[in-house]
Amino acid sequence: MAKTCAWCFKKTNLPDVFAAEAPLMIFMEERIDEWCEKNDVTRDELWGANGDWTQLELDPTMEAELLAYDELVAGVSKKTICKECLIEDDKIYKKFYLEYNDDTEFTIEFKPE
Ligand SMILES: [Zn+2]
Repeated sequence: MAKTCAWCFKKTNLPDVFAAEAPLMIFMEERIDEWCEKNDVTRDELWGANGDWTQLELDPTMEAELLAYDELVAGVSKKTICKECLIEDDKIYKKFYLEYNDDTEFTIEFKPE
């Protein structure tokens, strides 16, 4: 029996996956980037796991929007998502979440036998 995609309500036969309440939204991601650029902070400082909003001069509107968005995309549960949504979400994720990690230094440890 066909199930319904939790994000776009299209019918799909894909098995359930762990996914956020809502897909990533390009306009919110762009807003985050714009705000960072305007205020001269890194994306990580505003939107990273260690971001500290008490150190930033967030206006209340922006803060409310970020909080709402964070709630939507951070809460993960098992649900049915169609292929189109998964692909789109992956694209946005790669564009906004992997790119800015380019200059992060990764350390790989090789242990001698
Ligand atoms: Zn969908």
